[in-house]
Amino acid sequence: MPICKLCKINEANKTGSHNVPFFLMRSVDNEIGKRARNKELGFKISGNDVKGYFGQSVLREKLVEVFGELPDEELENRESSIIEDYIFCKSCEDKFGEIESGYAPTLTKIGEGVYNSSGKAGESLIFWIGIFWRVSVSDEAAFKMQKKDENKLWLLLNHYMNHQDAYAEVIQYQEVLGNIGYKIIRSPGYAEKFNTGSFTIHLSHRQPYCMLLGEFAVFLYMKKTHLNGIQQSFYTFEKDLPLAPVNTTNKDEEILSLNHDEFSKRIDSAAHHMADNRKRSMNEFLDSLHVVWGGETKRMHKDVKEEIFNHLAYSNEKLGKKYTNEDLFRSAFEVLSKYNKPID
Ligand SMILES: [Zn+2]
Repeated sequence: MPICKLCKINEANKTGSHNVPFFLMRSVDNEIGKRARNKELGFKISGNDVKGYFGQSVLREKLVEVFGELPDEELENRESSIIEDYIFCKSCEDKFGEIESGYAPTLTKIGEGVYNSSGKAGESLIFWIGIFWRVSVSDEAAFKMQKKDENKLWLLLNHYMNHQDAYAEVIQYQEVLGNIGYKIIRSPGYAEKFNTGSFTIHLSHRQPYCMLLGEFAVFLYMKKTHLNGIQQSFYTFEKDLPLAPVNTTNKDEEILSLNHDEFSKRIDSAAHHMADNRKRSMNEFLDSLHVVWGGETKRMHKDVKEEIFNHLAYSNEKLGKKYTNEDLFRSAFEVLSKYNKPID
């Protein structure tokens, strides 16, 4: 059995670890109207594919509605990619749980403009860096922090969680901590009200690291100087960022609140961005298919592509399988079989 990635001592015997805290994730990806664990039902969209996933307790009827009939092995393999086994030991996982329980009550605190979330200084920082770090060390996620940043966060988390006087230990790392800060933009109640949301961490932004998680946008700065760095675009949240206060270890957490209208504009921008990426990679796939088939040019004719995309859009495929690579292959072959040679 592998060794726990946090304490690096015990065996990583914990199964079903939530890399993103359940209480934040459930409003993002749970089956509509369901609040319990193992009820996740969502779609992970990347440039290369759309993949549905679900928790162990989602009812079979619901799965059939979304995915159609699935063979048993697929039922076993489609578990949420934010849930993983054998990453941490039980003791470390429990400590993550305590930190999460400490932060959870702040969700009921709401306010306009900049408000005090009542999240304790230091503890709130540990909570948020824990999420970035866990996703980064996970075997499943595409997001990876820079190694030196990942190590810094590990140092803080490990000392915070595995020493008696945790906060005093953290203070020892004041030099590291003093440089780390974060900003939060939140639209309180948005995820609950609209029963929708996304979870994504920008794969290449590092100054700051940028995460969208349900109704939260979180920006992690590894150095003070990054606060004055070049603006990185992140679903237009970058224009709100100057108004959001920086949180470090010296005062309770402050959050910039956005109303639901404004927040939904940012979410739309995120959805468009993800759809554009997907469309771009589908285009590339069709171009390579065209070349393999013997086309004389490097690109498939745009009308043929359009026909395939229409076929895809109007296919009777269940929502859970729509726009997946399988679905794209099928549509492409059905459309192309009408032609007896590549159209350049
Ligand atoms: Zn451990």
